[in-house]
Amino acid sequence: MKVAIMGAGLSGLACAITLEKHGISPAVFEVRERLGDRFVNAESMLSILQKPITDPVAFFAEKNGIYLKPTASIQRLLVFSQSQKAEIEGSLGFINYRGRHEHAFERQLGRQVKSAIQYRSKATYE
Ligand SMILES: Cc1cc2nc3c(=O)[nH]c(=O)nc-3n(C[C@H](O)[C@H](O)[C@H](O)COP(=O)(O)OP(=O)(O)OC[C@H]3O[C@@H](n4cnc5c(N)ncnc54)[C@H](O)[C@@H]3O)c2cc1C
Repeated sequence: MKVAIMGAGLSGLACAITLEKHGISPAVFEVRERLGDRFVNAESMLSILQKPITDPVAFFAEKNGIYLKPTASIQRLLVFSQSQKAEIEGSLGFINYRGRHEHAFERQLGRQVKSAIQYRSKATYE
């Protein structure tokens, strides 16, 4: 089966890794020059917002064989309003890099993809 993936973002890369596990080597087209070719930013994955999957990192590893290493874990969350403050403690989630950073999730997934990624390649449905 021939499969083309338009875009080497998180979805495209995760799709490529999954297809490879089933013996399919997709052609991946990415319009940018490299993976995560944008500003570096930090994102958060908060368990309290992601039910029923409270630990997506463990979920992807155990269920899909896709391995992501977050940069830090979130142990304490402070929420402020004009007059009140709330504090939550526990294993609340993770912080991860995105974009032009060696440890960015795009780069981590890219290292798990075996198929060739064609950069500077704008794919169309045709
Ligand atoms: C400012 C900002 C902050 C965010 N913060 C968070 C957060 O804190 N936590 C969180 O979980 N999520 C966050 N998100 C959302 C998260 O970034 C997206 O859900 C995720 O990146 C989506 O992945 P994707 O692979 O679907 O798309 P993308 O990451 O956008 O990847 C799409 C890829 O396809 C390429 N492409 C597009 N069109 C073509 C084409 N025609 N041909 C070839 N290549 C093409 C693009 O260059 C890109 O590399 C944030 C998003 C933004 C913009």
